[in-house]
Amino acid sequence: MNINTEINRLLNFAKQRGLISEDDYYYSANLLIDVLQVSEFEPEEINETLETAAPILEQMLDYAVQEKLIEGTTSERDLFDTRIMNCVMPRPSEVVRRFQSDYARAPKAATDNFYKMSIASNYIRKDRIDKNIVWQTATEYGDLDVTINLSKPEKDPRDIAKAKLVKSSSYPKCLLCRENEGFAGHAGHPARQTHRLIPLRLASHRWFMQYSPYTYYNEHCIVLNRKHIPMKVNRKSFENLLDFVTIFPHYFLGSNADLPIVGGSILSHDHYQGGRYDFAMAKAPVEKTYSAAGFPNVKIGRVKWPMSTIRLTGDDREELADLAEKILDKWRNYSDESVGILAESDGQPHNTITPIARRRGAAYELDLVLRNNRTSAEHPLGIFHPHAEVHHIKKENIGLIEVMGLAVLPARLKQEMHLLGEELVRGTEDISANEELAKHSDWYKMLREKYPHVQENQVHDILKEEIGKVFATVLTHAGVYKRDAEGMAAFDKFMQTVSEE
Ligand SMILES: [Zn+2]
Repeated sequence: MNINTEINRLLNFAKQRGLISEDDYYYSANLLIDVLQVSEFEPEEINETLETAAPILEQMLDYAVQEKLIEGTTSERDLFDTRIMNCVMPRPSEVVRRFQSDYARAPKAATDNFYKMSIASNYIRKDRIDKNIVWQTATEYGDLDVTINLSKPEKDPRDIAKAKLVKSSSYPKCLLCRENEGFAGHAGHPARQTHRLIPLRLASHRWFMQYSPYTYYNEHCIVLNRKHIPMKVNRKSFENLLDFVTIFPHYFLGSNADLPIVGGSILSHDHYQGGRYDFAMAKAPVEKTYSAAGFPNVKIGRVKWPMSTIRLTGDDREELADLAEKILDKWRNYSDESVGILAESDGQPHNTITPIARRRGAAYELDLVLRNNRTSAEHPLGIFHPHAEVHHIKKENIGLIEVMGLAVLPARLKQEMHLLGEELVRGTEDISANEELAKHSDWYKMLREKYPHVQENQVHDILKEEIGKVFATVLTHAGVYKRDAEGMAAFDKFMQTVSEE
């Protein structure tokens, strides 16, 4: 491997992708020879087109390890390849200027180009994300999405709950703070030199948009508060979401709930997640309509969805936010012991909402998902949380992304699916003695009965299909009103309080 050639390859890639222009050529080359501690540079003619910079970066990282510039650990390599890409990055002001000029032509052109840049810069490590195993499973609620996440470690919901209480002292305070832009990172914090933010004004406050480096779905973006303040779902959230989909009509935007167990993984920094993707939930129909006094222009419906979802549709943002606020206030204080819903216990509030906004042509659609985070002796991780019987597939929080119909499943399942498949083909009766697979025994027993003779070429599809079905069950566990006559009657009872003055 010739490091001079690799530098030339990266410059060629950066120019092709518009990260740098001809005027930046020697400037970027000189930054690269400094970072790589090379003393000479010779321009070379490069004729190649690559999808990502990853193959070039791999070569440069191997060189850096060989020259003892870094140790070869994953963390050190990730810090160093970001430092390398920093040499060919446009400044934040340049990125913002381009975004605004694209936006003046069309909002979609602005997000298209910003997204492409986030991949070209290797901020989104596309080569890693492409390793995720993704599929869809048809259920009575539509095609649910499933991703086995092979690019990010999983989190325990109890750690997440504790993280909310940790006093912030470091710089940047968290991964979502705008101060990350350009941060070199360290062992406990990823490098962010290739990170770029787009400033926004939502409901007359300063916010920023960025893409998620983990992209669980197309153009997965994060919208973050300028300030490091905790997640809070209130009227302002509805206004912010509706403002955002006014600015970017081709994107949806949702918020995680603001309580542990039913919230997302980061509760300490106010943020939303959006993107350009049609989840099963967005396609799910309204199965029953309601009305509310004082809101004649808003359509109100119950969505045919495993989690208890109220859909508001209308042209007037103000009116939608008013009604959403009313529903949130009612829900925060609502108890129905007959179905296990308690607004609080020992002074701790349990009720909150996961809201999602999107456009339907000129109209606005706001989905409000009712959540409750109470725990019990029987369900110590949460009553409206995946129950123990499905923990072998999913035991993490059901946050915004899962709520919408995408299961993000732990990496361990890849290997476990492979082993379970072998056992099914072999016709093994009982796997409870197998240490790695024992947690799947009950499920496996069901699979054995359902598929007594499995061929090797079918087994992978069978397992995918069955995992998708388990995810549908996971969502019904997280739903506060069960999808039976009693649950739906209780849902209607709550909606009765909404329709009153
Ligand atoms: Zn923060």
